[in-house]
Amino acid sequence: HIPVICIDGPTASGKGTVAAAVAQKLGYRFLDSGAMYRITAHAAIRAGLAIDAAHEEQIAALARELPVHFHGGRIWLDQDDVSDAIRTEEAGMNASRVSALPQVRTALIDLQHSFQRLPGLVADGRDMGTVIFPQAPLKVFLTASAACRAERRYKQLISKGISANIDTLRADLEARDARDQSRAVAPLKPAEDALVLDNSDLSIDEAVDRVIAWWQA
Ligand code: C5P
Repeated sequence: HIPVICIDGPTASGKGTVAAAVAQKLGYRFLDSGAMYRITAHAAIRAGLAIDAAHEEQIAALARELPVHFHGGRIWLDQDDVSDAIRTEEAGMNASRVSALPQVRTALIDLQHSFQRLPGLVADGRDMGTVIFPQAPLKVFLTASAACRAERRYKQLISKGISANIDTLRADLEARDARDQSRAVAPLKPAEDALVLDNSDLSIDEAVDRVIAWWQA
């Protein structure tokens, strides 16, 4: 029986950072499920497929056999290092569009389950607690205000030397959340037994400590 901690929440809520740090502290494996949707969108575009319902079956077929590899801290799709390409705002929006296709979600289930290894897994996403690991003993729904999330994303981009506009960023992340919350399959929402953690006024360390304390309680 492999323990799983789920950390779900909206775009730029800090879940990726918090989930990776919790995994590191506990010596657990880390699943970035958003990366699976980002890579699938990238693979679809690379194959010349428009991301829409008309191409759902073809994109799902790609997702089922995604030639993805993780090594050297990089993400590879076949021979292509896609680590940077899948992190742009545009790639996030494409991932959100691909993730609204039900057959694509089903196609990615086995890949996500395959990350379960002893001594445990920390899974980051939108439906980890509601769909992928419903039996997980700890489900955290990590949120932060839209203003706070836009500001964090802005600082992140600026620190990488990428110019950005905070109002555009906020509009984009609210559009992405609206799509994620309103889709028919696996909409973004806390699991019934999730513990909600608003980290607008918490440091990363404080949020990590809170999750670890819940896990050890
Ligand atoms: O978390 P990240 O921003 O990388 O996710 C990109 C997009 O992938 C999200 O906006 C969401 O639409 C989708 N996603 C999802 N289910 C997950 C993880 C991500 O639908 N478990």
